[in-house]
Amino acid sequence: MKLFLLFILIITTMNAIVLKPWSGKIEKLSDEERHVIINKGTERPFSGKYTNEKSEGVYTCKLCGAALYESKDKFDSHCGWPSFDDAIKGAVKRVPDADGKRIEIVCANCGAHLGHVFEGEGFTSKDTRYCVNSISLNLDKKQDAKNSELSYAYFAGGCFWGVEYYLEKLNGVKEVISGFMGGHVKNPTYYDVVKKNTGHLEAVKVVYDKNIISYEEIAKAFFEIHDPTQTNGQGPDIGEQYLSAAFVNNEDEKNTIIRLIKKLEANGYKVVTKILDKSEFYEADESHQNYYEKKGSTPYCHGYTKRF
Ligand SMILES: [Zn+2]
Repeated sequence: MKLFLLFILIITTMNAIVLKPWSGKIEKLSDEERHVIINKGTERPFSGKYTNEKSEGVYTCKLCGAALYESKDKFDSHCGWPSFDDAIKGAVKRVPDADGKRIEIVCANCGAHLGHVFEGEGFTSKDTRYCVNSISLNLDKKQDAKNSELSYAYFAGGCFWGVEYYLEKLNGVKEVISGFMGGHVKNPTYYDVVKKNTGHLEAVKVVYDKNIISYEEIAKAFFEIHDPTQTNGQGPDIGEQYLSAAFVNNEDEKNTIIRLIKKLEANGYKVVTKILDKSEFYEADESHQNYYEKKGSTPYCHGYTKRF
């Protein structure tokens, strides 16, 4: 029973992390923005700044920064609000409106209210009109949706199944891949690394959108979901392949890690996490990806502890 409560506490705390990067922005919304984005209001027709906007770019969520619509899908519906006949895959969620008739659209990432979607009106060949409030959007004129500034971060914190499980829950993290880094053997298998002669650590590659989450926020989570003071492995996993390390891409990342370690040391932690230059990352085979998700269970080796 105690274990169960602990699990609930961990999940609750993880949710708190998930909300963190944008929750502070709610307080910064103007009354008009809050009226539409949070309270699901509608801006007056023809009043929004993007109704007749023709520039190329990507429309992002005002609240969390996620990319929602591409300018190539915008069309002139003369209805008084920006209209799109398609959304970026997976970016917009449809929910039944409280009025029982219409279909509301919200940001799939943060739940911000966007507007409504209508089908069967015959405006374009896709026969769909996402009718979106300008005030729910920002237009990023430089951003290309296919190259939406995805960034990569690399960490080792013991068994990669658990590190992947927790870092994947962060808002703005698109994907976490389990693999190996830091050794001298090319294309190592899981069992090569288990035999402990490769120099590799079990590591993860974190794919994230820096418009939504920073390297520092991910690094902080990394230090809080594994024990950075354990010298011989992680949790019950003992061995050189389970040691703690941050593999940095550049001086900025290195300085961020140094700063965070200093904070942890000031808080009384004897941190043993190594700072290593990023080297070639080798993906583990498919059976090791999304391990806990496939298994429908939770990690034995990792958990969330607030350390900052
Ligand atoms: Zn959003």
